[in-house]
Amino acid sequence: MLPFANIAIIGIGLIGSSIAHAVRETMPSARITGYDADPAVRARVIELGFCDDVSDSAGAAVTDADLVILCVPVGVMAEIATEIAEDLPSDAVISDVGSSKESVMAALSKALPGARIIPAHPVAGTENSGPDAGFATLFHDRWCILTPPEDAAEGDIERVKAFWQKLGANIEIMDAKHHDLVLAVTSHLPHLIAYTIVGTASDLEDVTRGEVIKYSAGGFRDFTRIAASDPTMWRDVFLSNKEAVLEMLQRFSEDLSALQRAIRWDKGDELFDLFTKTRAIRRRIIEEGQDDAAPDFGRTHD
Ligand code: NAP
Repeated sequence: MLPFANIAIIGIGLIGSSIAHAVRETMPSARITGYDADPAVRARVIELGFCDDVSDSAGAAVTDADLVILCVPVGVMAEIATEIAEDLPSDAVISDVGSSKESVMAALSKALPGARIIPAHPVAGTENSGPDAGFATLFHDRWCILTPPEDAAEGDIERVKAFWQKLGANIEIMDAKHHDLVLAVTSHLPHLIAYTIVGTASDLEDVTRGEVIKYSAGGFRDFTRIAASDPTMWRDVFLSNKEAVLEMLQRFSEDLSALQRAIRWDKGDELFDLFTKTRAIRRRIIEEGQDDAAPDFGRTHD
């Protein structure tokens, strides 16, 4: 039996369209209704044909739903929840895919008192956005973290869990505050560092921008992939997970100062020990199937 039969997807960018493709493939009898604030996106979704219906308003999209998934930037979750409040069926489960969880839960519970809210965060993505960017296998063997509130019904958690498992994801259940701290280290801080490095390199006066691009294979280009991620999404992530990000940034600055000192005072052993530890972390990520072992991130060089 399907965990849900009528799924409403609000916000049809990379994540929303990937969910729709994956539902089509794994639960073909489920009905998918989509809505996006941008009329051009709605028109494109009709063309691409991965939704059964595309509504003209968020309210209309949720009226028959038993699962509503908000796939919009974190900063507009409150606004969209208010927009659907009147039309959300009382027995529908409402979920989201936001990259930060405490602020989203606060926004949803305020706008939708009494609603059956089970927040989720699929830890999968690419640097692309929009309805053309999605693909059915995005969540395969990736983690999806559920952060249900303490009073959530066990049955609702189980259904959302079964839904994501059908899309190919592995499930972890976590407290929202802990999620935000973990993701600040594993996702938010790396994005911030990439944005900084790419920004700094493009501002350097003694090295031309042409040279930065020409010699980017030295390592710079791997940061540019992350730094090409959607500006709206990431602005919202940093503002909504402010405390955890600032805490991690403080730790990072201290570690960076220690590295600076090691270089200044020729402490080769300290550098070598750190780089040995970081190499082991990369090995573990590959062993756990979270990245490809192919050299140079699988780039072909022919
Ligand atoms: P995206 O490709 O930019 O898609 C977001 C879509 O939502 C856009 O089409 C956007 O329209 C639409 N939208 C914005 N405001 C709206 C509103 N008020 N009502 C309805 N639609 C609205 O972004 P995404 O990468 O799919 O990210 C969506 C969510 O997933 C975010 O909360 C993000 O934190 C989370 N997430 C992202 C990743 C990732 O790697 N990308 C991974 C995990 C989770 P416009 O283009 O007109 O703004």
